[in-house]
Amino acid sequence: MAQIISGKELAQQVKNRVSQQVIQLKEKGIYPCLAVVLVGKNPASMTYVRGKEKDCQQCGIESRVIHLPEDTGQQALLELLHSLAVDSQVHGILVQLPLPAHLDEQAVIEAIPPEKDVDGFTPVNVGRMMIGQSCFLPCTPAGCMEMLRHTNINLTGKRAVVLGRSNIVGKPMSMLLLQQNATVTICHSRTENLKEICARADVLIAAVGKPRFVTQEMVKLGAVVIDVGINRLEDGTLCGDVDFEAVAEHASAITPVPGGVGLMTRAMLLVNTVQAACQQS
Ligand code: NDP
Repeated sequence: MAQIISGKELAQQVKNRVSQQVIQLKEKGIYPCLAVVLVGKNPASMTYVRGKEKDCQQCGIESRVIHLPEDTGQQALLELLHSLAVDSQVHGILVQLPLPAHLDEQAVIEAIPPEKDVDGFTPVNVGRMMIGQSCFLPCTPAGCMEMLRHTNINLTGKRAVVLGRSNIVGKPMSMLLLQQNATVTICHSRTENLKEICARADVLIAAVGKPRFVTQEMVKLGAVVIDVGINRLEDGTLCGDVDFEAVAEHASAITPVPGGVGLMTRAMLLVNTVQAACQQS
């Protein structure tokens, strides 16, 4: 049976570290503050934003949630972001995605100054990550890397397969694995022989958004499996992209859903916010 990599435990460790850093910053008169912009009433987004508020509160970080109506125009949103960009009391800015369809998501992301881009989505931070410079790492891949570190796996020379090539998960995840000297294969919906490729992986990252997509036959004995997927089933329960019970019999370590990568994603946002506050002060 595989080691279960608990996001709950690891996230708590990260939060404890962040809380300590916040105390030290406050002693120097620096009060870390995260602004979260939410447009509309997407239920999942509202839940995520509430979670972020709670996390900030627990660590002593101020959170400013700005909730705008669904019909907010592009210009009004850009003006708000500009005012947050020049507000010296705000260290991190996050726009909750997805935005309503009438808004230009990329233009909105680019309106966040890179030094306040705690999601790591702006082209400057993405570019810096590509060339291995100091930057804000996107929270989900950064959380996955923390989980991998926890397994003590030495990634050098290992075959890592990333299922999914999105800008927020698959692509940056691949880059971070590459930086740790893994031999990385990125798979997507057009990949041929997907099962065979997965079955050769020492490390398998699943970020496809399809419930229980990764079956036991796709996992090599002893592989480390990180399940990024969050899928809501018809009965309202959550499940990942991996068939957890069956795969846990083959893997050496595996992350659960819920209680896995999602919690680490949230924790890494706090890490980035404190980093932003340090750098701006
Ligand atoms: P996207 O929908 O943006 O990307 C999904 C990727 O999976 C695409 O690259 C797509 O390929 C690929 N894919 C889809 N179907 C197949 C298939 N049959 N075979 C191979 N590849 C396939 O999703 P995200 O990256 O945003 O998210 C992925 C999952 O992770 C979702 O469940 C999401 O909810 C979850 N998530 C969890 C987070 C967390 O904190 N735990 C944070 C962010 C996301 P193609 O590019 O060819 O279309």
